[in-house]
Amino acid sequence: MSKISDEYGSLVFNDQVMQERLPKATYRVLSQTVKEGKPLNLEVANIVAHAMKEWAIELGATHYTHWFQPLTGITSEKHDSFISPQGSGRILLSFSGKELIQGEPDASSFPSGGLRATFEARGYTAWDPTSYAFIKDEVLCIPTAFVSYTGEALDKKTPLLRSMDAISREAKRVLALFNKQVTTVSTTVGPEQEYFLIKESDYQERLDLILTGRTLFGADPCKGQELEEHYFGAIRPTVNRFMQELDDELWKLGIPAKTKHNEVAPSQHELAPVFLTTNAAVDANLLTMELMRKLASHHGLVCLQHEKPFAGINGNGKHNNWSISADDANLLDPGSTPDENLQFLVFLTAVIKAVDEYQGLLRMSVASAGNDHRLGANEAPPAIISIFLGDELEAIVRSIIDATPYASDGAKTMDLGSPVLPTFIKDNTDRNRTSPFAFTGNKFEFRMPGGEINLSDANMVLNTIVAKALADFADALEGSKNFEVDAKAYMKQVLTDHQRIIFNGNNYGEEWLSEAAKRGLLNLESTPEALPQYIAAESIELFENFGVLNRIEVQSRYEVKLEHYSKKINIEGLVTARMARARFIPAIVEFSATVASSIATKLSISEDMDVSAEEDLLAKLNSGLVTITKGVEALQKAIEVAAALEDSLENARAYRTKVIPAMNAVRAAVDEMEIIVGHDYWPVPTYNHILFYT
Ligand code: ADP
Ligand code: MG
Repeated sequence: MSKISDEYGSLVFNDQVMQERLPKATYRVLSQTVKEGKPLNLEVANIVAHAMKEWAIELGATHYTHWFQPLTGITSEKHDSFISPQGSGRILLSFSGKELIQGEPDASSFPSGGLRATFEARGYTAWDPTSYAFIKDEVLCIPTAFVSYTGEALDKKTPLLRSMDAISREAKRVLALFNKQVTTVSTTVGPEQEYFLIKESDYQERLDLILTGRTLFGADPCKGQELEEHYFGAIRPTVNRFMQELDDELWKLGIPAKTKHNEVAPSQHELAPVFLTTNAAVDANLLTMELMRKLASHHGLVCLQHEKPFAGINGNGKHNNWSISADDANLLDPGSTPDENLQFLVFLTAVIKAVDEYQGLLRMSVASAGNDHRLGANEAPPAIISIFLGDELEAIVRSIIDATPYASDGAKTMDLGSPVLPTFIKDNTDRNRTSPFAFTGNKFEFRMPGGEINLSDANMVLNTIVAKALADFADALEGSKNFEVDAKAYMKQVLTDHQRIIFNGNNYGEEWLSEAAKRGLLNLESTPEALPQYIAAESIELFENFGVLNRIEVQSRYEVKLEHYSKKINIEGLVTARMARARFIPAIVEFSATVASSIATKLSISEDMDVSAEEDLLAKLNSGLVTITKGVEALQKAIEVAAALEDSLENARAYRTKVIPAMNAVRAAVDEMEIIVGHDYWPVPTYNHILFYT
């Protein structure tokens, strides 16, 4: 056996380990509770906890933690050691069932969007037995949900799990109409994580990267990505060593890292794992991101996952490949038999309906200060949601709408569900990289999520809106006497109503903006414009009807997102002002003094000396200094005005419309200076330097 297969999952308390280490009866009860999603009883939990502790200690663990995802999106953990003092200086290592299934972290320091004002301040974490426990840095990590004392979700995982329940329930109703009784329906996700690796020594010189994750200054490099030589190019040896270590560590954690390659931008890379069930995939992605950041330091590198680390250079996205499977059969696979094709088309129709009806909510789910730089910047899809189906599938949809026979390439004619269909779709090579929501053979690829995002929100929304569309189908068709005919008629109606969301053309083009407006599609360009979609009456109704979030939970999440946005921009504004004052202005002053003394020296030698070049330069430096100084004052003022606004939406809007433009003005003035100030005087590493290291 190779080393990889030996080590794969070696740090995970997975099904195999449970089978080996738990008494048969306990294993059976645990498996059953996991399947049925019931809470564990304490007796079983005690036995599981003991086995888990013994296993973890053998692997060098000294602490345990309830690993959870508060509304900030990143993961949180508080480590407790297994040590329990026994008097006379002796200790025992203990871990009880209660400690396994429930924790009580101090909830008061996590954002709750006002939830705690109305509810108990206490929050507790509860083990999610559908995600395996694992060991990270000598700590046994137990994936948990985080809820308030009264049961309101305070985290990202809880509503995601609820949304998986919802779609499972409704998909089963639809499958029952096809006479299929299945045990489990779940959604699957394979996220493609993009990231940059830069030298730690450069990073340390830049306060903007350290505090905001992106460069707030930096003139265009002389060379960008125009030669397209980086994409799939040979990987630098340092980066290769990083990737190897990363793969090793991910595999130990049972994360199926699969492909790695260079991306379009210089110093940019991508990692894609094999897909998993959605909640496991989200956990795995968060761990992957964390490991990337940690392991980079072993190689003198820093990993940047921000959506836009460098202006003018492609940013980091995270394509969310999504599908639905029933007892391991992919429901979005076109299949090869006619009756399965009808089923496929029913599910496809549900996705189309869902995405059109709730386009605003889907857009909202990926809104963040960082992602605002990507969406609509000709590197990622625009902020407008549309669906790419590919030529064949679109022709099929059209044939349903028009009630005409489907003709493939003019050669074969077929009714709905001809066996000819699947091969054509699967082999469709037109990948349309510009579409925000593309059908890619047997799954949808949602391309809007940003590199730094926690994918829970996007998938929670996707699962819920598709659950709703499936429920609508089941409501309409249950009791039908002539299922096939009625199903086709239903699809014809739904596809007619929602065809505006289908767009196979170029999403980056100017024309699409006006075409989309004509179609009545939403174009929510920024986070403050997108977030109110969360609290729209139909969104709250949707989440409540499907048991995913109640009104208060929605409201609190909306508040947290708004606050988070404003805080991020506030920090960026402060860092812009600080760097301008503390680094760039002094550098320009110093260089100006050199130029000025050169003029004085030359003139002292001869009054006739031509000093026009220096004078010209000095004038430019001077004018730059004035512009920067005034710009910083204006920025400071804008921040004060924005920060003083009490209403959280007004507040976020002011950051968007007042603070960001003021920051951009300072940046533009500084970037102009970077080009004319002597290299040795410039106080921070430039794009040329950071992006093209060896
Ligand atoms: P691309 O061509 O877009 O770069 P790949 O074809 O390499 O991407 O696959 C991208 C991702 O899609 C992988 O993470 C893969 O696991 C995922 N994927 C494949 N099938 C499914 C599925 N049924 N459900 C969810 N994700 C899937
Ligand atoms: Mg992709």
